[in-house]
Amino acid sequence: MPAHLPAPPAITPDWALFLDVDGTLLDFADAPGDVLVQPELIDVLAVLHGRLDGALALVSGRTLVQLDELFAPLHLPAAGLHGLERRDDGHISRDARPPALDGVLAAARSLAAKFPGARIEDKGVAVALHWRGAPAAEEPLREFASSALIDLPGYHLQPGNNVLELRPDGAHKGEAVVDLLALPPFKGRRPVFVGDDLTDEHAFTAVASHGGFGVLVGPRQPTAARYALHDPAAVRAWLEEGLSLA
Ligand SMILES: [Mg+2]
Repeated sequence: MPAHLPAPPAITPDWALFLDVDGTLLDFADAPGDVLVQPELIDVLAVLHGRLDGALALVSGRTLVQLDELFAPLHLPAAGLHGLERRDDGHISRDARPPALDGVLAAARSLAAKFPGARIEDKGVAVALHWRGAPAAEEPLREFASSALIDLPGYHLQPGNNVLELRPDGAHKGEAVVDLLALPPFKGRRPVFVGDDLTDEHAFTAVASHGGFGVLVGPRQPTAARYALHDPAAVRAWLEEGLSLA
């Protein structure tokens, strides 16, 4: 944990709480499908969601379908794919997938097949290249991603923790948070975003400009977050402590 960042204050009922998932609520696994969601965490999120009058949302790089599977039976307010998907009146809205993405996906998969442990994730409008289980694949996957951009106008590379994503321009977690903040039950509340990744920095900046603050999980620097927690276990403990106060 960065020595200069203190632990966050206790959760209060006037907050709008935005939570990243992987590396924040959940410990990382070698493959995104292998993460473990403890039943206790689902209980804590359900109670907090109620005590904050519904103003608790998941903001993740995963799809909303994946989030609902992970946190079943909860259907929390959520933004998936870093904001490309939003839960809007119970319907999932998403952008259209460009035809060129199929070719990119196939080429990425044949490249990753040469590196056991590397994984290519089809995220609908985005493609994630994972090398957490295969460090030797990092450089080849990075080079592949840069050249794939030529076939995907309007796309950019979003770096993360042992992952690089090809994704459409214009949507990021900060935008997702600002959009949610304009609507009830989030509107008028103090926004707090908890996240671990580079993609969460947009959201840290967004909540700070709306009277709130970011909580960084882990030691990454520099960061726009004002507070920090050591790891997902510390986040889960902090949320659970919040139950008695919220
Ligand atoms: Mg994360």
